[in-house]
Amino acid sequence: MISSEKPGKNNHKDWWADKTKKLLEDQKNSWEVLRENYKNLSKTETKIFGFGNFEVKVQCNPERIKSTGADVSRDALNSRPCFLCGENLPAEQDGLLYNKKYLILANPYPIFDEHFTITKTKHSPQTIIGNFEDMLDLSEELGRDYSLFYNGPKCGASAPDHMHFQAAQKNIIPVEYEADTVKEKLSTQTFGTPKIKLFFIENFLRCVMIMESSNKGELLYGFKILINALKKISLPKEEPMLNIISTYNNQLRRVFIFPRLLHRPKQFFENGEKKILVSPAAVDMGGLIILPREEDFNKINPNDIIDIYRQVSVTKEFWEYLKKKMGDVYL
Ligand SMILES: [Zn+2]
Repeated sequence: MISSEKPGKNNHKDWWADKTKKLLEDQKNSWEVLRENYKNLSKTETKIFGFGNFEVKVQCNPERIKSTGADVSRDALNSRPCFLCGENLPAEQDGLLYNKKYLILANPYPIFDEHFTITKTKHSPQTIIGNFEDMLDLSEELGRDYSLFYNGPKCGASAPDHMHFQAAQKNIIPVEYEADTVKEKLSTQTFGTPKIKLFFIENFLRCVMIMESSNKGELLYGFKILINALKKISLPKEEPMLNIISTYNNQLRRVFIFPRLLHRPKQFFENGEKKILVSPAAVDMGGLIILPREEDFNKINPNDIIDIYRQVSVTKEFWEYLKKKMGDVYL
């Protein structure tokens, strides 16, 4: 069932976070597959690799094989019913209607103890352009408990034909709890005004820009500048490749942007010993790499991690160009 309940004027604060939390609890009671998958999550193994000022976690999660190995080619998409469209959702799936525009759904194949998919009610392509403000609004509404993720259509989204975000408990992704250290130790360039700060993080295996502000308008403007800069070095007519993590804490909005060069590293396409089935999305770029195959989990080493990030993240030249473009506006 879809709930169209809305907060009142006097009970707005954290209303959506409360309802979202309750949705998952209710679904664990009413939906066996989902309940079992959350239960099995506690059995997943995790390894931690230290890299000095930061760490990378690796999770072995066999349930994610469909998502990691997803065929997202146009032919494959056209020949399957869209699994995020309302009429194709499993019968057991309940949801919360948000602003008539999005459905908040408990994810039945979780990576996290609390994991949600937030889909547009209308079947429309995955794109952040035109939807970034929604991401900031959802981050604010759910921010007491949850962070939002966005995966570009060629950067880990398993349904690139249907606009969606994901949400999970906040501060579970390494880059979130490492943000202060990373900003202090690894940012090579900082721009900003009294209202917005931009940090360019390097020597972090992958490139990430952190934008911080308590003013939504400032972030929307900064994001627009960024997208325009990225477009100049992306394929024409396609959205620049990126992953985003967005958080909200005591009015401070923090957005982590990972511009991407490749969808999948060469290890994904290898056979035999050399194969590692990994398809990096926002979560992986944030420092939690999901591996559905146990053999990959057992053999992956720090050099593989360095190599995978290096391939999918943008090049040094690209990054320097981006810094220059942002500096033109903010320096
Ligand atoms: Zn759809």
